[in-house]
Amino acid sequence: MFEPESTKTSPGEKRYIYSFAGGCADGDASMKNLLGGKGANLAEMAIIGLPVPPGFTISTAVCTWFYDHQKTFPENLFERDIPKALGNIEGVLGKRFGDPENPLLLSVRSGARTSMPGMMDTILNLGLNTDTVEGLARKSGNPRFAWDCYRRFVQMYGDVVLDLKPSDKKQIDPFEAILEAKKHELGIKLDTGFSVEDLKDLVSRYKVAILEKTGRTFPEDPCEQLLGAIGAVFNSWNNERAIVYRRLNHIPDYWGTACNIQAMVFGNMGSDSGTGVAFTRDAANGDNIFYGEFLMNAQGEDVVAGIRTPLKIEQLKQDNPKIYAQLDDIRSILEKHYRDMMDIEFTIESNRLFMLQCRVGKRTGMAAIKIAVDMVKEGLIDENEAIMRIEPEQLNQLLRPVFDLKEKQVAIGEGRLLATGLNAGPGAATGRICFNAADAADVFKQGEAVILVRIETSPEDIRGMAVSEGVLTERGGMTSHAALVARQMGKVCVVGCGALSIDYQKGELRVEGNDLVLRDGDYLSIDGTTGEVIAGKVPTRNPEIIEVLIDKTLKPEDAPIWALYNQLMEWADRCRKLSIRTNADQPDQAENAISFGAEGIGLCRTEHMFFGGDKIDAMREMILADDIEGRKAALDKLLPVQREDFYGLFKAMGSRPVTIRLLDPPLHEFLPHTVSEIEALAGKIGKSVEAVTARIDDLHECNPMLGLRGCRLGILHPEIPAMQVRAIIEAACRMKHEGHEVVPEIMVPLVSTVKELEVTSEIIHKTARDVIAAQGIDIRYLVGTMIEVPRAALTSAAIARAADFFSYGTNDLTQMGLGMSRDDSGQFLPAYQQQEIFDCSPFESIDIDGVGRMLDISVQEGRSVKPDLKLGICGEQGGDPATIEFCHKTGLNYVSCSPFRVPIARLAAARAALQC
Ligand code: ADP
Ligand code: MG
Ligand code: MG
Repeated sequence: MFEPESTKTSPGEKRYIYSFAGGCADGDASMKNLLGGKGANLAEMAIIGLPVPPGFTISTAVCTWFYDHQKTFPENLFERDIPKALGNIEGVLGKRFGDPENPLLLSVRSGARTSMPGMMDTILNLGLNTDTVEGLARKSGNPRFAWDCYRRFVQMYGDVVLDLKPSDKKQIDPFEAILEAKKHELGIKLDTGFSVEDLKDLVSRYKVAILEKTGRTFPEDPCEQLLGAIGAVFNSWNNERAIVYRRLNHIPDYWGTACNIQAMVFGNMGSDSGTGVAFTRDAANGDNIFYGEFLMNAQGEDVVAGIRTPLKIEQLKQDNPKIYAQLDDIRSILEKHYRDMMDIEFTIESNRLFMLQCRVGKRTGMAAIKIAVDMVKEGLIDENEAIMRIEPEQLNQLLRPVFDLKEKQVAIGEGRLLATGLNAGPGAATGRICFNAADAADVFKQGEAVILVRIETSPEDIRGMAVSEGVLTERGGMTSHAALVARQMGKVCVVGCGALSIDYQKGELRVEGNDLVLRDGDYLSIDGTTGEVIAGKVPTRNPEIIEVLIDKTLKPEDAPIWALYNQLMEWADRCRKLSIRTNADQPDQAENAISFGAEGIGLCRTEHMFFGGDKIDAMREMILADDIEGRKAALDKLLPVQREDFYGLFKAMGSRPVTIRLLDPPLHEFLPHTVSEIEALAGKIGKSVEAVTARIDDLHECNPMLGLRGCRLGILHPEIPAMQVRAIIEAACRMKHEGHEVVPEIMVPLVSTVKELEVTSEIIHKTARDVIAAQGIDIRYLVGTMIEVPRAALTSAAIARAADFFSYGTNDLTQMGLGMSRDDSGQFLPAYQQQEIFDCSPFESIDIDGVGRMLDISVQEGRSVKPDLKLGICGEQGGDPATIEFCHKTGLNYVSCSPFRVPIARLAAARAALQC
């Protein structure tokens, strides 16, 4: 009988192998780092008594060893440990590896910590050779089955271990070519039409091909086969598509893969055998239904590879109620055990069910929320767990446009509905047709939306999928690679659309029963919620949540998706410590942000207010004035406009805090550039074109980002901040007059020394005092500063004495901290990311080690002087989940981000609070 002890090595020696078999296992689900996800869950399923074929896992430590030692293996692995573990399996099954009478066949499977669907290699039916195939034929009484296994094995071994699989999609797999030729000779279409003799002939043709292409004979010795297969699995960790996948998913190279070796069970034994994959709930919309597919008389990859479009799992209920009931039982055992939606692989061998894999199922953002909220209601998980299960970015999927039903009806009325496939990834996508990943990348680079159209996607297409709005395939089911990967990426996806016929060579897409030919670059629309494929563009409209919150065209009670979202947000708000503010300078932006749950404005950029309508003229007049009188006259024109702006913003925000930054950018940013613009302006402000041009030249700076901007402007021209402060305080007075208490937070930009802040504060206080005295209304206000210059961060103790609050301007702090201009970084950042100099852009996610360190120092210094100094972040990174987690840990009071990122920030802040 199986004995877990037997694969243990002597004390002190590193253990590399972990066995599993009915009822017990050396490992368990918690050991994913060592056993990979597949190995850990095979062990766990064995422990909880599910029918798992016996096997063992060679740990990821061996993969690391393999790469550290010129692709060799640790001592004793092949001589002692593997034979021992194999002995376990042989003991359980009463078969022997390589036995010509009753051969044990194995699968050799890759499996890293997190699933990388289809990226690495697996070999099935290992252990077959000229002798054992006969044994298998006799033992099973089914020579056709035995030779089908052998044919598959030689092909897989040749492709994977002997490396005959072409790396380029355009080249033809040598075995596929032989198979097709054979079918052609026989005039048959399906593999099932081969006789035993045909299969034998195929095997010998395959072997000839192997000899021709590699100069080596196909290895007959099962032990040699095993050695080769294990090496191939470890090698597949570094194949190109696995590397690309790791980059996209931020999986580090050092993790390595485990290698699982398991007794084969056979779904290809006849009509009472089969194989399938399933999710315990709907992975696209989260509904609590069994969601899966299967094929009878099929093995392994046949379901996921999209070769035949498989049957829905409900069909199994009719075809084989007993197996279905057992599977359904396992579905609920797994959900209760893992308390999550699971993705399973199973095989039926002569009416016996076996579980071959389970893992937490990948799902869309929509499904993630639905499942999490439902599972709280079902008592499987608590609210905190629900929050931890949803990646903040997944919320984006719910805020994305959907097709306008009326417009879609119009398109359908015009006969543009081409076909309906399977709705694998919800949402609406319109874009230009691309038939391969390379074209998709090109079209994307030109700034166009892409719909990737493939017969079936394979892991090689992953680059193309990453840049596409939507993915459409002719073949494959809901659990095909295309569907799986698209859902994980949050892409709109329609699969298994059999009515399509795609010709890669001609770059054409045709549809059954339709004369229309769509070509490369033509527009196509796909609805991933319904599976519809429509020629041309279809206009989109806002999704439910936006219609409820922003457009207010949908009542909450008619909006089930909004209700889920709202529930989740309520839970998130209960646990987060960070406040969430928004960056907004117009009342409508502020209102949107409040609808999304913003609690204040963290950054109002006053310069944006000067761009609307005639405001720019007064601004230009101010900048171009020759003297202070002229400037004041222009500022007098700006004052009422600014006051109105601030009043509007205050009104939208009610009594919520509003941080207003005084004018920041260099003045010439406001000036006209073209000759005709200059002429027009000169006319308006009564100056000569020459005078205007001369003044513009005066204002020219070599490096405006480091020039006359920020607080420097106000120190040189105090009348500018004075006007702004007057407008702010007067607007606050008006609000107070109307019964709303507003406490404006006036923020001074680009301070590097406390002196600058003191000088500017002087101007602010004097102006405020004047207004308050004149209006006879008492207004409380705060004066604080941006911390966005490294010197300010490092001297924050001194600056804190003069400040009521700090707001970290991490855009400038990153630019100055890294000496890297954001607007120019497009030239080199992509190369930097490719070479892994940066994991991600420091302008998107805060550079924790450098910029974060400055922030940390500043927080310590500031709070050492003023323990309750209010701190926030207002840079672009404020809406990024990793940055938010950092801000939580650092002890900031709030983060501020753009209105549409507020829900993401709320969730990220809650997750940070739960994690720390
Ligand atoms: P992937 O990670 O790409 O899913 P797997 O290692 O799970 O690769 O294997 C590929 C296919 O082979 C799957 O369909 C799986 O169910 C099947 N398979 C793996 N091991 C066995 C086995 N022992 N018996 C039968 N089928 C197997
Ligand atoms: Mg699998
Ligand atoms: Mg700045």
